[in-house]
Parts: sequence; C-alpha cells; structure tokens
Amino acid sequence: MQLHNVIVLALEAVVYFLVLITLLHWRHRIGIGVFITVLATMHFLETYLAATFYVQVPMATISPGSAVFFAGKLLMVLLLYIKEDAATVRQLIYGLLVGNLLSFVLGQILALHGGAMTPGGMPSDEPFLRDLGILMVWGTSLLYLDSIGIILIYERLGSIMGRRMLPRFFVAGMLTLAFDQLGFYGVLNLLTGAPASVFWGGLAAKMAMNLLFVALTGIYLSLFKSDGAASPVKGISDVFNDLTYRERYQDLLARTGRDGLTGVHDRGRLEFEGPETIREAVRNGRAISIMIVDADHFKEVNDKYGHLEGDEVLKRLAGVLTGAVRKIDMVYRFGGEEFVILAQDMGHRLAVDTAERIRSEIEKNVKAGGERVVTVSIGVSAAPKDGRSLLELISAADRRLYRAKAEGRNRVVGS
Ligand code: GH3
Ligand code: MG
Ligand code: MG
Repeated sequence: MQLHNVIVLALEAVVYFLVLITLLHWRHRIGIGVFITVLATMHFLETYLAATFYVQVPMATISPGSAVFFAGKLLMVLLLYIKEDAATVRQLIYGLLVGNLLSFVLGQILALHGGAMTPGGMPSDEPFLRDLGILMVWGTSLLYLDSIGIILIYERLGSIMGRRMLPRFFVAGMLTLAFDQLGFYGVLNLLTGAPASVFWGGLAAKMAMNLLFVALTGIYLSLFKSDGAASPVKGISDVFNDLTYRERYQDLLARTGRDGLTGVHDRGRLEFEGPETIREAVRNGRAISIMIVDADHFKEVNDKYGHLEGDEVLKRLAGVLTGAVRKIDMVYRFGGEEFVILAQDMGHRLAVDTAERIRSEIEKNVKAGGERVVTVSIGVSAAPKDGRSLLELISAADRRLYRAKAEGRNRVVGS
C-alpha cells in the first residue's frame, strides 16, 4: 500500500510536470498567460490538499499538496525566471498574493451570511474555509520569499558551480523547500495541530520530489536544448535591478528609429508611437501639442553652400531643437528640412511660447557657411481643440506653417 502511494505520487509529479513544461515551452505560440494561469490555479489545489489530504509512504505521512505540487511550482517559478525574467515572475507572485488576500477577505464577508449549507442541506464547514483562507495567504507570502530565495540562490550558485544548471536547480530547490517546510508547517501546526512527523515526512518527501523534478527538467533540457536553456551567470546583486529582457528590448527600441543624419527620432517612430501617445493624452484629459519646424529657403542654402554644408546645417538645427525642449518632448525629423516636436503635458500657450523661443534661438545661433543666418518657420497645434489624432494635429500645424511661410517666414503661427 505504501509503495503504491509512492508510485501514485510519482505519477502526479510526472503529469504535473509534463503539462506545465509543455505550456512553458510553447509560451511564444500560446502566450505566457496560459502557463501562469495554470500555475496559479494549482495554488488552490496545493493548499487544499496540504490541509486535508495525507497519504502513507514508507516512514512518513505526507500530502501531495506540498510534496508534489508545491515543490513542482517552485521549480516552475525558477524555470519561468530563467526563460523569461524577474519581471514576469513578479507578476505571478503579486497576482497570487492579491488573489489569495482577496479570497481571504471575501471569506470573511461570506462568513457574514451565517447558516450557509451544502446543496444537500448539510451545514457548510465554515471554520475550515476560514482556515484555508489563512493558509492560502500564508502560503503565498511564503511563496513570495521562496521565489526570491530560489532565484537568488540559483544565481549565487552560478558563481560557484558555473553554468551547470541541474546541480544549481537541485541545491537551490533543496534549500528553499527546507525553508518553506519550516514556515508552512509552523502555521499548519497552529491551525490543525499537525504532528512533528508531518514536518519530517514532508521535508523528506519534498527533497525526493525535488530530485524527481530536477531529473525531469534534465530530460526536458536535453531534448530541447535550443529553447533558452543556457543562462548567463549573473552576480547576485543585480538579479532584480538588472535590465530584464523586456527592459533591454525597450532600450533597443529607444536606440532604433533614429534619423541617420541628425540623430533625432525618425518619422517612422513618430508614426509608430505618436497616435497612441496623443490618444492617451486626450483620453486622460492631458494637454499635448505639436510643432512643425521647417527651415526657410533651404534650397538656397544648398545651392549657395553645397549639399554637404546643408547637411551640417540640418544637424545644427536638430541640435538646437533638442537642446531647447524638455526631456519628455520628442523631436522627430519629419522630412528633408522639416522637424516635428511632440510635447506632452504642454498646452497651446506654452507650446507657442516654446516655439517662439526655438525660432529665436535658431535665428541667433545657426549659420550656414559661417555667415548666412538660417531661420525657421513653425506651425503649432494642440489637442483637443485643433484635433484629437496625430493626423488632425499635424494637418492643423501644417496649415499654420504654410501661413507662416506666406506671411514672410521666420515666424511662429499658432492659430
Ligand atoms: P521654404 O521652406 O522656406 O518655403 O523654402 P525651402 O527652400 O526650404 O523649400 P522646400 O521645402 O521646398 O525645400 C526643401 C529643401 O531641402 C529641398 C532639398 O534640397 C533640401 N533638403 C531636403 N533634405 C535634405 C538633406 O537631407 N540634406 C540637404 N542638404 N538638403 C536637404
Ligand atoms: Mg519643407
Ligand atoms: Mg523649407
């Protein structure tokens, strides 16, 4: 009978592992949300089993809830960290924390009903529900510490054990599970009077399961080497502050979409992010303005000083624009000698003032061939009064730019 239980526990572990590792493996096709949701769903089963469901194995009484499913989850958290990043693990953990706190709070409110019953008319087990709520909150709080712990230990082991992942998995899992067993058993003992044998049995079972899960992970990694199995060894201090993959991606994004000549953002970038930035500002009732800056008589500059000097002048213009605006304002090269400035949280009046300042700085500071004063004309528009989309704001500003040209150039037109 006891051996039978050992085999069934192993079967549970294998099924659990196979399903979750498959979801993790295919996360790019089906979305990481599937994996995370399934992992989170298992949390309830774990806690429920740990409170109510124990089986006999040689020398101990253990619950599949903590021995199999909890140990498995911790390893999945580590795998999630390795394949994605700390920011993704954080979402799972915070989601579980809030979800279980909510269950707990709602449990307290549900208790206000009084006299609840089963569909068969039997009284509901309200004290048990209350205890389960406490266990779930405590369990997730521990999971929070466990997850940070297992990741930190795994990273720290990297500097001792190098890139060999499986031994690192095993040791990190062992240490974290031992810590967890202490914490969970302590509260379980308080709530349900679980005897000390539950602690030792549970600890031994978790260790055994840890070994089984690491072995399964080894099989998986050797079958699917391609998918992110190798992890760079990082120092312990930079685990959470480190640039996660997503942050690196954003950093990369910030460095692309640049205009090769002037170094300001390019038009593609404006078309990519401008519409959403404006929609969002309008939706939230926040000011946002657009300026279109066009160099005056630029053809003549090219004709007189040559195309190369024209290019230099464009660089100087871009330099003045970038220096004259705030950090949050975005400068784009819109076309040949035209620039667009997208200014968040800047109303119409301030935008016109800023444009005027830019115009005068350029007139004062930018020269072609060291002698000829370069000037610009600027059209200004602001949401929501001139439009609520990038297209509407650009065309309003463009109409005003056209008028600035017609009225003699080297000026700002804002209405
Ligand atoms: P205005 O805007 O004041 O009406 O006169 P403009 O001479 O600036 O008129 P337009 O906008 O028609 O001409 C823009 C000129 O800018 C034409 C083109 O030769 C020049 N240009 C566009 N891109 C570049 C570039 O990358 N480098 C250089 N040197 N010149 C460029
Ligand atoms: Mg032009
Ligand atoms: Mg021009």
